[in-house]
Amino acid sequence: MSTFKAPKGTYDLIPPQSAAFLAVREAIAAPLRSSGYGYIETPGFESVELFARGVGESTDIVTKEMYTLTTKGGSELALRPEGTASVLRAALEANLHKLGNLPVKLWYSGSYYRYERPQKGRYRHFSQVGAEAIGAEDPALDAELIILADQAYRSLGLRNFRILLNSLGDKECRPVYRTALQDFLRGLDLDEDTRRRIDINPLRVLDDKRDDVQKQLVGAPLLVDYLCDACRAYHDEVRALITAAGVVYEDDPRLVRGLDYYTRTTFEFVHDGLGAQSAVGGGGRYDGLSEMIGGPSLPSVGWALGVDRTVLALEAEGITLELPPATSVFAVPLGEEARRVLFATVTELRRKGVAADFSYGGRGLKSAMKSANRSGARYTVVAGERDLAEGVVQLKDMESGEQEAVALDAVVDKLRSLLA
Ligand code: AMP
Repeated sequence: MSTFKAPKGTYDLIPPQSAAFLAVREAIAAPLRSSGYGYIETPGFESVELFARGVGESTDIVTKEMYTLTTKGGSELALRPEGTASVLRAALEANLHKLGNLPVKLWYSGSYYRYERPQKGRYRHFSQVGAEAIGAEDPALDAELIILADQAYRSLGLRNFRILLNSLGDKECRPVYRTALQDFLRGLDLDEDTRRRIDINPLRVLDDKRDDVQKQLVGAPLLVDYLCDACRAYHDEVRALITAAGVVYEDDPRLVRGLDYYTRTTFEFVHDGLGAQSAVGGGGRYDGLSEMIGGPSLPSVGWALGVDRTVLALEAEGITLELPPATSVFAVPLGEEARRVLFATVTELRRKGVAADFSYGGRGLKSAMKSANRSGARYTVVAGERDLAEGVVQLKDMESGEQEAVALDAVVDKLRSLLA
């Protein structure tokens, strides 16, 4: 061990477990890729102001959890705590919305940073795959995203997750509800911090996890009862489309998410095997965000799924992903000349698209065969001086244990056809 350890609240992804992590990322991305979403990558940091305005001045994410820094040039930057604000910023900057092809559908994958109290499933550095559909107000788009997330989880074999769905209304009906909620909340016995929150962001009080607060919230007015006709019709259509797709969801009239930019459709994916940190993903519609960060009106919807927690959900369900071994052929040279010859064979295999690895360090047959086994390779190629004198190598099928001599100049083609 060195003097250093991974910083608090972070962990390293190392083989072989890291393979499952990569596979989860790919499984989430796959349905997006085949549904018209293009890949976008934005910087790991942005101006603090983008998140303050976008995510919301009064959210925990902005007030408590951002890693901020001042550059030598005096700019105030923050490590990105989430993806949506950055992706929308980038889309606006590149004028993607002006190319006449709305919605602009984008997907991303990357690292996010929040200064949170670490615990299982909650880290200071975590990984998300996300999707945003920018510039269209169409319930089918909201439904598409929910269906694609469901498809991604199912493709991994996950079953014990639930989809919670709510509508947060729009700029017409939300203010009416907000006032009603504020009136209700002001009558409760709450600490000073929470009282302040009533003025700034009363919906967030509903999200308070403390028991004594939750008990008092039992009779709180619900947004569903205040939705305007347009929001209700929109929400009903989203629900109908999801239902028609055979995706099961639960109405959760108390679902508010920790980000200020959501309007109308909001949803969360929770997994029942994860304890306190049960949200594996979440998202919703953010019709006002573009204007909040200085852009034109661009109604949009998106989600982000947590890769770390999806991996934990797989563990909780006892699912081991069936990943093909990374290496197909492992070469074991015995002696100097064999080292040169087999190294050339491995290089040729790789160039022809066969995943191959080599026993380095001039090790003996026994320890080299151990590495061959561990690599998961289906075939091992072994050659010693006598083999080379005869112009052959020994080709071993690691599954059957059978071994045969194959002409050196034929072995690459033979392996390619065996593996095809
Ligand atoms: P949020 O933007 O907070 O809704 O986050 C979306 C998803 O990212 C969550 O459902 C989690 O799966 C994941 N996530 C958020 N914060 C963390 C964290 N601190 N550690 C691990 N995963 C996280």
